[in-house]
Formats: sequence, structure tokens, C-alpha cells
Amino acid sequence: MNSRTSRRKWLLASGGTALAPAAAQIAKTDAGYRDVRKVRLWENTRKEFREAIDGGPLQLVIVPTGSTEQHNEHLAMINDTASVTLIAEQAALRMFPKVMVATPVPVGISPHWMDRKGTLTLTKETFLAVVYEICDSLKQHGVKNILILNGHGGNVRPLRDSLEEYRRRLGINVHFNSYWDAYTPEITRKYMESGKAPGHAAEFETSFAMAAFPERIHWEGVDYARMKGKFGIKDPAAEKQDEEFAKEAKLASTAKGEAMIGIAVDFAVKRVQSILAGA
Ligand SMILES: [Zn+2]
Repeated sequence: MNSRTSRRKWLLASGGTALAPAAAQIAKTDAGYRDVRKVRLWENTRKEFREAIDGGPLQLVIVPTGSTEQHNEHLAMINDTASVTLIAEQAALRMFPKVMVATPVPVGISPHWMDRKGTLTLTKETFLAVVYEICDSLKQHGVKNILILNGHGGNVRPLRDSLEEYRRRLGINVHFNSYWDAYTPEITRKYMESGKAPGHAAEFETSFAMAAFPERIHWEGVDYARMKGKFGIKDPAAEKQDEEFAKEAKLASTAKGEAMIGIAVDFAVKRVQSILAGA
């Protein structure tokens, strides 16, 4: 097949007859790859969202709550928000088209890290009001089931303590979990050499980042010995703890991160399924 004519003939024979029906078949079975933007509420148009909720397939919305806070010397400050959003999106993709993910709450309750530069924090009252009003917005549009999925330790107690009040005031089905509720002591022991998850910027979070967003890890120039006493950390014991976390972070691997992410996604899918089943 050297000449242009014979190539055209071949293209017509193979592409013209074989490729077109195959493409139509793929569209019909609707399996395999799906663009993650489909499950992001904020990437949908109002038409798409309206059609999904008004008599459509959408049954539950996940509200991710994270933080923008120091993650030691080597991890980006968006770590918790990025992690929980990834788990929420992967779970929503598995439950497509029944589940969407609301715009994540990117700043949490982090006053304990304010002596580390860059950390942003909300007061408990402000944070709880923001989460409530997002849930209330969803309710006003007809969403009847919400899973608040958390990715930052400082948000846990306040959210857990507010759940009953949220339910009472909203009058809809609101549930709460942190994604690491997936990790039993057995799972943590099996995958984490440090025996800890989630911890803070240590083996677990660094493994997660290696598997999900390695571009947010920056070990270059990190030097705890040289910076000793110069981080601006008030409590010397807390500064020493940072160094311990950094040592544990060196145990991280992509494989550990992938395993732990998979377990958390399975957990989130099961939670959504049990909420929808009325459990
Ligand atoms: Zn974190």
C-alpha cells in the first residue's frame, strides 16, 4: 500500500465501515473512562445540575471539608483539601450518576498550626456556618442526602458535634465521616511501617501525595538541622515532633499511597450506598 489511492481505499474499507459502528457501540455501553468533571458540581452547568436533581439520577452530594495549613517542610498546604476531594471524586465516579461532589471547603479549623507560616484558619463558628450553609444551599435545590467527608483532623470534633443540629435544622439526611475512618488498626499496621494513619505530613500523607499528586511534594533544600530553632515554632517539643514526622515521611511510597487511597474510596462508596439504602 504505497500509493495514495490505495491508502485511501484502505482507510475507507477499515475506518469507514469498521470504526464508526465501534464508536457508536462504546457510547451505548457507557463503560470505562469518565471525565471527573462530570461529578464536580462546580463544573456542571445549572441545566446539567437541574436535570440531574429534578427527577434525574442524582441522589446524594458529598461535601468535602479540608484545610489550608502547613504540612511540614515538604508537602503543599492544600494537602488535606486535595486528598479528601480526590477520595470524594473517585467515590462519586464509582457511583455515577447518583452522586456529585460539592465545591470543597478549602480552609478548616487550624489555630494549632498558626505559628507555622502560611497556615490559614477559620474560627470554629465560621467554619461550621460555612459547612451548614453549603448543605442548606444543596437542600434548597432538592438534595435530600448529604455526606460531609472530611480530610482535616481539626474539623472532626466540631463537625461530629454539630451533626444532630444540622439534621434538625435542615430536615434532610446528613452524615459525616473523615475519609480515614476507613483505616482499621489492622489496615494501618499492614500498610504503614510507622503504624500511623493519618498522622501529619508523615508516612501516610506523603504516601498519599506520592500516589495522587507528587507535584505537591518538595524535599529540595529541606534541612531540619540547619533550621533548628529558626522555624518560629514556639514549643521546642513541637519543633522536635516536626522532625520526627519528617523522618517518618521518608518511609512513604507510591504503592502504600495507592493501597490506602483504594481502601478509602471503597469505604466512601460503601458509606454512600448505605446512606442511600437508608441505613
Ligand atoms: Zn494533613
